[in-house]
Amino acid sequence: MVPACMLGNEVTVLGREDVPLSAVLGPKLGTAFQNLHSSHGVRFKLPGSAAEISGDGGKVTHVVTNDGSWIEADLVLIAIGVVPNVGLAQQAGLPTGNGILVNESLQTSNPNIYAAGDVANAFHPVLQDRLRSEHWANAIAGGKTAAKAMLGQTVQQDDIPYFYTDQFDLGMEYSGYGPLTLGADIVTRGSVESGEFIAFWLRHGKVVAGMNVNVWDVQDGIQELIRSARPVETTRLSDPDIPLNEV
Ligand SMILES: Cc1cc2nc3c(=O)[nH]c(=O)nc-3n(C[C@H](O)[C@H](O)[C@H](O)COP(=O)(O)OP(=O)(O)OC[C@H]3O[C@@H](n4cnc5c(N)ncnc54)[C@H](O)[C@@H]3O)c2cc1C
Repeated sequence: MVPACMLGNEVTVLGREDVPLSAVLGPKLGTAFQNLHSSHGVRFKLPGSAAEISGDGGKVTHVVTNDGSWIEADLVLIAIGVVPNVGLAQQAGLPTGNGILVNESLQTSNPNIYAAGDVANAFHPVLQDRLRSEHWANAIAGGKTAAKAMLGQTVQQDDIPYFYTDQFDLGMEYSGYGPLTLGADIVTRGSVESGEFIAFWLRHGKVVAGMNVNVWDVQDGIQELIRSARPVETTRLSDPDIPLNEV
């Protein structure tokens, strides 16, 4: 997929936060992604909201921001999040709340009805809390878990949430429990500035999430650190010469 800005378009990003992705990655790593896009000519107006989209003859001409400035535009992409469609589940009398509530086997309160993928708000046995994940890996794994459960097998959906994205020449993979990264310590292996690094989120000295950026074949090691929940030494974690299974 070719980014819009590389097809001759002028691109401006509006968002309510100071730094893009800061809610997920924190300000330092969010800034790294912002710099990547800025270096390709993408402009950011942060924090900034669209107060009005104006047009002429059915065509958009500009966006008016909350501080009254105008941004010329002939195309507006609105990406402000999604709300799970739980209407059908509610009609069926199933409990809902940020998705369809299911247990660790993805079964609803009705033993004959299961929910998987984006719409399922499942109890995660490792996290010991509910988790609704909007990524294809979760949808693929959830379908298999639900099918096995329907066949009477004892099975739990306990995968560590995972996703990847490619942006310009940056490729990244992320595994971890997003809710646990809020306020967590971030330790990096390799330099963020170089564009090749791994970031780890630590709570109480244990890795709860990890993101590798332009560093490959480390996801198994990251997931093992998360799954084992063993205490790690941050000096060893940040040292690229020490294998992840020895930190
Ligand atoms: C623009 C975009 C980019 C994305 N990029 C990534 C990415 O890079 N990496 C990643 O991991 N994830 C990404 N995702 C998320 C990923 O696509 C979803 O997590 C995944 O598709 C969820 O699968 P699902 O089966 O739960 O839901 P969906 O793929 O949404 O499928 C739900 C299906 O149910 C059908 N349906 C709804 N109601 C009914 C009904 N009443 N009867 C019959 N059928 C019905 C819908 O028509 C649809 O076909 C992206 C999503 C979007 C929108």
